[in-house]
Amino acid sequence: MVNPSGAGLKPDPADLLCWYDRHRRRLPWRALPGETPDPYRVWLSEIMLQQTTVAAVAPYFARFLERFPGVEALAEAPSEAVMGAWAGLGYYSRARNLHACAKAVVERHGGRFPASEEALRALPGIGDYTAAAVAAIAFQIPAAPVDGNIERVMSRVFTVEEALPKAKPVIKGHVAGLVPPDRPGDFAQALMDLGATICTPKRPACALCPWMTPCRARAEGLQETFPRKAPKREGELRRGAAFVALRNDGAVLLRTREPKGLLGGMAEVPTSAWEADYDVGKAVLDAPLDARWQRLPGHVRHVFTHFPLELTVYFARVPAATPPPEGMRWTPRAGLADEPLPNAMRKVLSHALDVPAAAPARKGRKAAPPDEAEPA
Ligand code: SF4
Repeated sequence: MVNPSGAGLKPDPADLLCWYDRHRRRLPWRALPGETPDPYRVWLSEIMLQQTTVAAVAPYFARFLERFPGVEALAEAPSEAVMGAWAGLGYYSRARNLHACAKAVVERHGGRFPASEEALRALPGIGDYTAAAVAAIAFQIPAAPVDGNIERVMSRVFTVEEALPKAKPVIKGHVAGLVPPDRPGDFAQALMDLGATICTPKRPACALCPWMTPCRARAEGLQETFPRKAPKREGELRRGAAFVALRNDGAVLLRTREPKGLLGGMAEVPTSAWEADYDVGKAVLDAPLDARWQRLPGHVRHVFTHFPLELTVYFARVPAATPPPEGMRWTPRAGLADEPLPNAMRKVLSHALDVPAAAPARKGRKAAPPDEAEPA
């Protein structure tokens, strides 16, 4: 009997796999139907895809495979060659871990990636998610990787009321309860594809979804309200790291903020995310380029209308020939006064370089936006 509300129905992995067989994305690192996945390609793509998009990764992936066709070639390569091939992808500690992981696979496992989640997790740069993804996709182990796309799909299908990040174990439990033992890799990739192409953050295409009937959020018309996120508490202190890179010719690394939102369109030195639970101990992972980052003593504090901010400042000198990472620019020190830098960023520059914190009154200079309150 048809059950239009889907209430009480369990999503069927077979329906999802049937959809995947017809609509899977063709990705350069993915094995075609009937092919055996290559653990090196699976691992490389998963590391590269962390915090960036499929479109951004594709040319880097092709270049890496050309230069380092297998894990041995990568392990033997000089570190400058690996960093050079990575340049532009950002998060350079990831490239260092990638290289260290390749060496560990060669030294500890004779050049073959180990076929267990636990042994994968013991390798440099491989966390819970990557270990589960490589185990499932490359080795057909019934593991349950959960990325942002999968979190969204599962929280909607099961209307997970718990907010992220606390909901992660609940969501992982739901995935683990559905993994089909005969096709765990395809199931993981099918969930990723469903989240990327159908169950999108805004306006999911539920009419095309293989789990439309059992999806509880769809039945209640609440799709876009999942996954639940803990409300940001007004006035709560946020923390982050700011990175002041100074080239030997005196230029400073800057970027422009997104046009919308807080300080929209203004200039800034690269920073991490600003979060209540930001872990400063891992700040170097957010550095915009590979350098000897030195943590400066003290903090820079600034009060915005809705929250106070505390930034830990990191400083590095780099050679004059250093190109800017993608989306960033080098501004000569003399040109800083003409940059639309908000007061918080002027304080950061003052902290690191002794640049005056107060913005000079210049004709035509963009004023600090109204959502930036005076410092406490
Ligand atoms: S029915 Fe809609 S909300 Fe539910 S999983 Fe499918 S696309 Fe997502």
